[in-house]
Amino acid sequence: MGITLPRPAGDDDWWKKAVCTSDEECAELFYSEASGSAARAKRICFSCPARSACLEHAQETGENFGIWGGLTGHERRARRQYGRP
Ligand code: SF4
Repeated sequence: MGITLPRPAGDDDWWKKAVCTSDEECAELFYSEASGSAARAKRICFSCPARSACLEHAQETGENFGIWGGLTGHERRARRQYGRP
């Protein structure tokens, strides 16, 4: 049984354009602490048409884990600290 990546609830359907998928391999890539995984996930994000909306959602909801919108949790927290969306 695969892992399901969290998807936002509500009417906004930006995540339907996401190039990441909900299969186990993708979940491991986007939520792994393993060396190289974040870089691989980020490369996928940078070609994703939903990137801006994904990052905005992660920032609005205070998502602290995984790669969202091409940034790690640490990078997103740093942006929030400096008042950047
Ligand atoms: S920006 Fe990255 S994490 Fe967000 S939907 Fe696209 S591929 Fe998935």
